[in-house]
Amino acid sequence: MGAPLRVDVITIFPRMLDGVWGESILKRAIAGGFLDVRMVDLRAFTHDVHRTTDDRPYGGGPGMVMKPEPIFEAVESVRTPEARVILLSPQGRRFDQALARELAEAPHLILLCGHYEGVDERVRQGLATDEISIGDYVLTNGVLPAAVVVDAVARLIPGVLGHAESHADESFSNGGLEYPQYTRPAEYRGMAVPEILRSGDHAAVRQWRMGQAQDRTKKQRPDLLTNDGN
Ligand code: SAM
Repeated sequence: MGAPLRVDVITIFPRMLDGVWGESILKRAIAGGFLDVRMVDLRAFTHDVHRTTDDRPYGGGPGMVMKPEPIFEAVESVRTPEARVILLSPQGRRFDQALARELAEAPHLILLCGHYEGVDERVRQGLATDEISIGDYVLTNGVLPAAVVVDAVARLIPGVLGHAESHADESFSNGGLEYPQYTRPAEYRGMAVPEILRSGDHAAVRQWRMGQAQDRTKKQRPDLLTNDGN
């Protein structure tokens, strides 16, 4: 096993993800030394009594903008030469499984969480190496997007998932969606598990699953069939 993937999440809400890191697979990844997540309190890098991290926008307009100085200082306090400095923003590259795989190869991720109207443009210009959006909607701050990115990346680190949780066949791993899954009971409220899955014929099951995955992708996400990014 190599060094853990180090992740620094820079935010004014450093306690917001305590529950996320303390449960399930992420908890195990941290305890197992695969992932080293640190929440960095942006207010620790302010120099005034009010610990100010935002100010009014130049040019007027509603809301507040996050100031560049604490963000630059916070990043500089944790940055390593190989770090990817990621600004979480609805304007960034859309996060997907291909990007999760790419980030899982990095030794160090620094995630910058905005709040209010967003961050001063100079963070984008002079600090971030990447800008990532988790989807075409606007959240109140970047902490939940940071959790989404870390969760998707962590489960791709070799050793984090056990065999029972393998991601070999799952959606997006082969360019499409996964086949339908069933467990016991064999019949529930008039809905029966397809006979073929109970046949014990492994080749037929494989064939059926492949067909189902293709049909489902065609029906629910035809866009994936023309993308080769996943
Ligand atoms: N005024 C900004 C705009 O129109 O692009 C939106 C700011 S949003 C209210 C505040 C912060 O939440 C952003 O700086 C970003 O860190 C985070 N955020 C909101 N939606 C996001 C998304 N879809 N993906 C990633 N980060 C997001």
